[in-house]
Amino acid sequence: MLTAFPTERSRKIAERVERFVRDVVVPYERDPRCVSHGPSPDLVNELRAEARAAGVMTPHILPDGSHLTQLETAAVLKRSGLSPLGPVAVNTMAPDEGNMYLLGKVATAAQQQRFLAPLVSGEARSAFFMTEPAEEGGAGSDPSMLQTTAVRDCGGWVLRGRKKFITGAEGAKVGIVMARTGDTERAQATMFLVDLPHPAIRIERLLDTIDSSMPGGHAQILIDDLRVPAEQVLGEVNEGFRYAQVRLSPARLSHCMRWFGTVMRADEIARAYATTRKAFGKLLIDHEGIGFMLAENLIDMQQAALMIDWCAGVLDAGSAGTVESSMAKVAVSEALFRVTDRCVQILGGNGVSRDTIVEQAFRELRAFRIYDGPTEVHKWSLAKNIKRDTLEAARHG
Ligand SMILES: Cc1cc2nc3c(=O)[nH]c(=O)nc-3n(C[C@H](O)[C@H](O)[C@H](O)COP(=O)(O)OP(=O)(O)OC[C@H]3O[C@@H](n4cnc5c(N)ncnc54)[C@H](O)[C@@H]3O)c2cc1C
Repeated sequence: MLTAFPTERSRKIAERVERFVRDVVVPYERDPRCVSHGPSPDLVNELRAEARAAGVMTPHILPDGSHLTQLETAAVLKRSGLSPLGPVAVNTMAPDEGNMYLLGKVATAAQQQRFLAPLVSGEARSAFFMTEPAEEGGAGSDPSMLQTTAVRDCGGWVLRGRKKFITGAEGAKVGIVMARTGDTERAQATMFLVDLPHPAIRIERLLDTIDSSMPGGHAQILIDDLRVPAEQVLGEVNEGFRYAQVRLSPARLSHCMRWFGTVMRADEIARAYATTRKAFGKLLIDHEGIGFMLAENLIDMQQAALMIDWCAGVLDAGSAGTVESSMAKVAVSEALFRVTDRCVQILGGNGVSRDTIVEQAFRELRAFRIYDGPTEVHKWSLAKNIKRDTLEAARHG
């Protein structure tokens, strides 16, 4: 189900990661330091020390700084996700994985040295500041509604605004802030690199959300006269939306990869329960209602695996993969959510208890149907493409 390895090097890395996650990380799942706003900083440090010792830290980036292909990354990240704590331990987690990818593509050598290197080594965490409070009419599904502003001042920039749902901002050392720039009517944005914590970036509150896997939780932030020197602009001024696209497809897909691993574990737990637990004189799996649910899980998982590998192949071929990653994100997040829902049901009362990770997988997958583009937004965008292509085809006879 974890699918074949695309290359020998990815097989070696992925097998090491799987062994580490199953043997070392899984026993930490009941650790009291796994709290509602994500694993505590000392737990993260402890897990990362173990990962370094096992030689599996940041396994998708090679010692020479190059990145595995997306197909290879899929093999590795699926296995890192076999525990909800796995990606945190081996540094394949969101938002750092996507931020590292973006900095690797767009940052200057000096910026990489200062902001990327501590992320790759796993000594620092990062946050991506895009979404704003809906209550104030800010950017959400529609990034062009961005309200945070950046204005030029004394050769640098001054940023003002409020952000919401900023994963991992609490405890992060590196921030990428999206702010509105440019004088044209068309929305334009720029990305800024900032050191955290910063007195002008104030955490107003941590949101109490349904999920609990990401260190630092999700914060609401006030950006109050934040001064950023010109050399901390990421890439070109006014190109923020284009860079967001660079990050978007691989970041969406890596969420699919990690959550695939977690849901595979949930399914393993459900299978084990259904093949040992009896009711009405026979094993649960021998009751058609349960057997069919496990069969449907198998079908959904296989389809999700194929979508992930298909989209990874598209990105590896050099495409931006915007349409393909939208399709994959919808198909995979919805399929994996169905699987976790069935796993909860198969486990009965245990399914809603925290005795196994099934309950957490269910909560995490519910949130995943919203972040990195809610299902409806992807479908809406696909429908726009369908309309354009169909009308175009009709025009050409
Ligand atoms: C757990 C979690 C972590 C997150 N982490 C980060 C982060 O680190 N950094 C960051 O910047 N943001 C982050 N976000 C924010 C996330 O990207 C947004 O929640 C998402 O983009 C949706 O924006 P919104 O919440 O404002 O919903 P809204 O824009 O208010 O949309 C609400 C709903 O309207 C519907 N909708 C919207 N547009 C359309 C359309 N065109 N067609 C049909 N239906 C539509 C969808 O069903 C959508 O769910 C995170 C969110 C969550 C839940």
